[in-house]
Amino acid sequence: MSADEGPGQEPVLVMEGVSKDFRFGSVLRRSVHHAVVGVDLSVPTGQVLGLVGESGSGKSTLGRMAIGLIRPTSGTVEVGGLDLSSLSTADLRRHRRTMQMIFQDSSNSLNPRMSLRELLVEPLRVQGLHDRAERERRAHALADEVELARSWMDRLPHEFSGGQRQRISIARALALEPSLIVADEPVSALDVSVQARVLNLLKDIQVERELAMVFISHDMAVVEFISDDVAVLYRGEVVEHRCADELFAAPEHDYTATLLAATPTLGQDSA
Ligand code: ADP
Ligand code: MG
Repeated sequence: MSADEGPGQEPVLVMEGVSKDFRFGSVLRRSVHHAVVGVDLSVPTGQVLGLVGESGSGKSTLGRMAIGLIRPTSGTVEVGGLDLSSLSTADLRRHRRTMQMIFQDSSNSLNPRMSLRELLVEPLRVQGLHDRAERERRAHALADEVELARSWMDRLPHEFSGGQRQRISIARALALEPSLIVADEPVSALDVSVQARVLNLLKDIQVERELAMVFISHDMAVVEFISDDVAVLYRGEVVEHRCADELFAAPEHDYTATLLAATPTLGQDSA
């Protein structure tokens, strides 16, 4: 596994024996859904772990647990050497700076009345970081990094395209200089032509910033492009976890082979 290659690759995220049950029903008719079952994963600095599996396999639940948005029923999650379950709510909120999430519909959650400038300054302002001039300087640097023109700083979200809005969401996730990013289907809502551009940008940023990233997608071609390692989730369990090159060349598990067979190769996709 590439996670073991070479020195200087400290694990940023370590999940051990992580499970999540969702409970339903009344006291009389109770049922439990095992959304995630006994997952062990680690993601070192500068590496992307692709997380694949069909809809409902537990990808988003696992991603949310990785950054402490929901707590596991059992098992441990460590980010930057800190056990998230040991943190108080206030400490978790502070630590959350170092772990950020990008969602498929992130761009829809941008405040429609905020300009690009305000949207990029806001994460720093909310955390009380830096003075006004420094926040402004950083907003400009973020716009540059996600390739949005500085001349657009006064525009509102509706004046940008879907791909540009997703770039804004990526920039906001980067504003607090996280060490871990969980990207949950970040390009799935975009047109195929736009997907490739946003994906390239995300990969460049991840390499440049040496980010640890969990990249969730149901699209194997997208995952193949961006991932170093890939974990395949089936009904909440990791059924295969290997270096991406090997997994795509020769899947070991029947379920992985089925997922691959159902996916057109990147570049050949005519959809
Ligand atoms: P994926 O992202 O792979 O599509 P999810 O992690 O969203 O899968 O969901 C995994 C399973 O857990 C699904 O069966 C889903 O219905 C269930 N689930 C997810 N979140 C909740 C919740 N808050 N309450 C109850 N069930 C949930
Ligand atoms: Mg999901």
